[in-house]
Amino acid sequence: MGVRDVASYVAGQWIGPDDGAREIASALNGQVIARAGHSRLDTQAMLDHARTVGGPALRAMTFHDRARMLKALALHLDAHKQPLYDLSFETGATQTDHLIDVDGGIGTALVFASKGRRELPDGHVYVDGEVEQLSRKGTFVGQHICTPRPGVAVHINAFNFPVWGMLEKLAPTLLAGVPAIIKPATATCYVSEAAVRILLDSELLPEGALQLVSGGLGDMLDRLTCQDMVSFTGSATTALKLRQTPALLENAVRFVAEQDSLNASILGPDVAPGTEEFDLFLREVQREMTVKAGQKCTAIRRILVPCAQVEAVIAGLRAALGQITIGDPRLEPPHTGALHMGALVSAAQRRDVLEKAALIGQEATRVFGDPDTFPTLGADKDTGAFVPPMLYHCTDPDGAQHVHHTEVFGPVSTVMGYRDLRHAADLANRGQGSLVASVITADLSVARDLALNIAAFHGRIYINNATSMAEATGHGSPLPHLVHGGPGRAGGGEELGGIRAVKHYMQRTAVQGSPEILSAITGTWVPGSTEETGPDHPFTRRFEELSIGETLHCPARLISSDDIDQFATFTGDTFYAHMDDAAAARNPFFPGRVAHGYLLLSFAAGMFVQPDEGHVLANTGLDSLRFMKPVTPGDSIKVRLTVKAKTRRTDAYGEVRWHVTLTNQTDEPVAEYDLLTMVAT
Ligand code: NAP
Repeated sequence: MGVRDVASYVAGQWIGPDDGAREIASALNGQVIARAGHSRLDTQAMLDHARTVGGPALRAMTFHDRARMLKALALHLDAHKQPLYDLSFETGATQTDHLIDVDGGIGTALVFASKGRRELPDGHVYVDGEVEQLSRKGTFVGQHICTPRPGVAVHINAFNFPVWGMLEKLAPTLLAGVPAIIKPATATCYVSEAAVRILLDSELLPEGALQLVSGGLGDMLDRLTCQDMVSFTGSATTALKLRQTPALLENAVRFVAEQDSLNASILGPDVAPGTEEFDLFLREVQREMTVKAGQKCTAIRRILVPCAQVEAVIAGLRAALGQITIGDPRLEPPHTGALHMGALVSAAQRRDVLEKAALIGQEATRVFGDPDTFPTLGADKDTGAFVPPMLYHCTDPDGAQHVHHTEVFGPVSTVMGYRDLRHAADLANRGQGSLVASVITADLSVARDLALNIAAFHGRIYINNATSMAEATGHGSPLPHLVHGGPGRAGGGEELGGIRAVKHYMQRTAVQGSPEILSAITGTWVPGSTEETGPDHPFTRRFEELSIGETLHCPARLISSDDIDQFATFTGDTFYAHMDDAAAARNPFFPGRVAHGYLLLSFAAGMFVQPDEGHVLANTGLDSLRFMKPVTPGDSIKVRLTVKAKTRRTDAYGEVRWHVTLTNQTDEPVAEYDLLTMVAT
């Protein structure tokens, strides 16, 4: 390929590199393949464009509008991804690596799109948690809400996953309703630029929602204000430098960092050679050392094994790593299961890996891999950024420093023996905060002991054994559903983790006021606020005809001993508290024989339903059910049914959440729950 000009997308215009550009070399042969960067970038214009054009357009959309847009964007990228694969070979990555980067990124965006539709309202305010009762009579209550910040999210990404790294941040940002300016690492920015072009060409995004900086960020961080956010992935050194930008400190700009991590994998003391778990352990380490040539923030850097198993593990890993071929990533054998490793991203990265491996070598013996002598397939190891997998053995993990503190961002890992579980946990925690630790064990007490002792130092703990290994997602895979991040050295940030990630781009605010006021703000009925009476039974009305707060009061129904007897006979629930007056009275919760809670729910349904075929299509569940006071024979119950929230699901129907309260003859609440129904539009 010729030299590619990698452009930036600035305030609605593509701007090519100028005389301030940096050259980017192919990982495979060192030849210059692209250039990117600008001597002057109009960063203020980019920020203004995001804040005044992109932000308002995104905020005008509901969470569901944005989730639908995200899904369409991900599907569009999926349909146009081949050029991304083709380009990515130049970064040294194999097709297996592309699947993690490109398809993994698309999959992540799709999960966020789906979670956005299922877990966020079809509105503009996210209600965070329950209403807090702040007063005796309930006229003054509190509620946390999240609203999109009217600023811009600046995403600074590492070189290793130019597509996934972009989409895992972009998906929650867009879902939150916040525009993004993406700055990929220069070494692989040509892949990110191609992906951004595909996203913009789809015309699915509002103008200003997505801008791109290829090359340096200029003075953008100096111009950030209190509603902006920075999400950074990269080295701890860069993170430390950027965190100290005066404008970020002065304006308390939210700064989320994902940085270095010396992740450990621990072989349980219960696992011996010849078992399925032992082979699983070897496979996990082999994969984590070699996928993406070890340039993965979650890769296994430290291999902790019982002292008695050190020799067997080294022998097993030597055999496993000996099967790996290294060379031109395009030569990865298709679908044979054979493992092939491409190149590091650049000659500079190769130098960095060799220098840092040499530091590890001061404390540990290399037991596999020689960077001076190793065969390469279809590539020249002197011009390409190739290194072999290198395995070290450290016999003094307590005295060693580098093995716990120096992250070699390549296919390098160190085996260490541990004496007992306490020692294993101490060694894992010497990473001083990691993204992930894995434990391979079939012993529940080992799993519990290690989890409790290492959890505080880790963002994720991955436990695997023969029961789960066929379906397990792998030590090194961050999942959109679960938190990705870690304390201390790992940056102290959190990404992904489902809707948690969306909240990073929103402001959480405690709102206090009357129930009426909170209902008006959140669009969700709060008990105590006005109840409206509809023109007829709510079950006879369509989704859009129902209004929040619309309430049906049902007349009282007497509960008799016969009712309880019949319900017991019919259902088989003859629990003593419903059948035996004396036995029930000996129970501190009951005055004597009481009605079944499920009988009350069934009667309530009988009281509020409108039986004719109509617009209510299905009952899909109950939430937050509480029985508050026992009901005894002779009591009577009343039911109140109120439209609490509405969420459109498809063009044909939407979910109506009804708040149901059962009260007795003295108006004391006896049960409360949310009833979920699907109602035709
Ligand atoms: P890096 O050198 O720290 O660069 C990270 C990003 O910061 C790049 O986009 C880089 O841009 C940018 N950057 C550097 N100096 C900057 C400045 N003064 N102002 C604004 N931006 C600046 O890291 P890398 O070499 O790309 O990635 C490797 C490191 O990332 C490893 O240490 C690895 O542990 C870490 N990492 C962590 C995670 C995680 O999730 N925790 C994931 C992947 C990687 P340029 O490329 O233009 O310099």
